Amino acid sequence: MISIRNLTKRYGATDALKGISLDVRAGELFGYLGPNGSGKTTTINILTGLTAPTSGAALLAGVDMATDPVNAKRVNGLVPQSLNLDGELTLFENLMIHGRLFGMARRDYLARIDELLDYVEMTGKRDALVKTLSGGQKRRVMIARALLHRPSILFLDEPTVGLDPSIRRRIWSLIRQTQKDGATIFLTTHYIEEAEFLADRVAFLVEGEVAAVDTPHALMARLGEWALDEMRDGDLATRYFADKQQAHDAADANAGSYTVRRVNLEDAFIALTGAKVTGDAPKGNGHGK
Ligand code: ADP
Ligand code: MG
Repeated sequence: MISIRNLTKRYGATDALKGISLDVRAGELFGYLGPNGSGKTTTINILTGLTAPTSGAALLAGVDMATDPVNAKRVNGLVPQSLNLDGELTLFENLMIHGRLFGMARRDYLARIDELLDYVEMTGKRDALVKTLSGGQKRRVMIARALLHRPSILFLDEPTVGLDPSIRRRIWSLIRQTQKDGATIFLTTHYIEEAEFLADRVAFLVEGEVAAVDTPHALMARLGEWALDEMRDGDLATRYFADKQQAHDAADANAGSYTVRRVNLEDAFIALTGAKVTGDAPKGNGHGK
């Protein structure tokens, strides 16, 4: 559904993207995970036609963003990283303007706005000024807006950044529902647990390069199933094991405090992107020592 080939983006002396290639399948919820400054927004901006790549190509549902931007833009919806509703207008007015921009017939967008406000549970605020809403409510209206013209691909750029945990959960279920309704979803986040919880597959992005792409489960399984965290000389060292007993056995040989726990996606990110785990970090053979 999304096909990215050797995408690069250079801003002056900064290589924001250094040759990204990815394929996202129809109906998939794809997580694009990386720290701040790794190139997530740059990628989304290229995929949604807000920025031109320096080189490389992006196809959305087979349409080339570079040669056919009008049709490429019709198939996608974007929830950008920054809140960009018009605060001086009502929810309804914000959505209506979007419907008109996308050339929807009045009858069509009127019905669709009611349907979507219901979907994001904001019907009661239809005629409220956007500036009176909370951050989480604005984010939900932005998701409704992105869905208004029935995109087959939804881009979400850090949809839950800065939100309370309870609102974050609510937005997660909304994203899940959108996928169930048939959309392909490309989600960027720097919250590891968000990617672990939501994504069918994730890409680990570091300094403009993709370090790994797989299911969260497979990425974690590359390390083993169990992690042993040990404090040594004031540093935390983590080793990975296929077996829980092995992890405990390895720990018993050492003095100091330790924890045996399940491997999580953050472990995989640290191990597979080369970011250092303090101490003797293993490289994913699943057997410590
Ligand atoms: P992320 O979304 O992962 O935080 P970005 O894609 O926003 O990362 O940024 C990637 C890199 O490109 C960063 O080093 C950032 O400073 C740089 N960058 C992004 N946008 C611009 C711009 N308009 N002009 C110059 N540098 C930019
Ligand atoms: Mg960003």
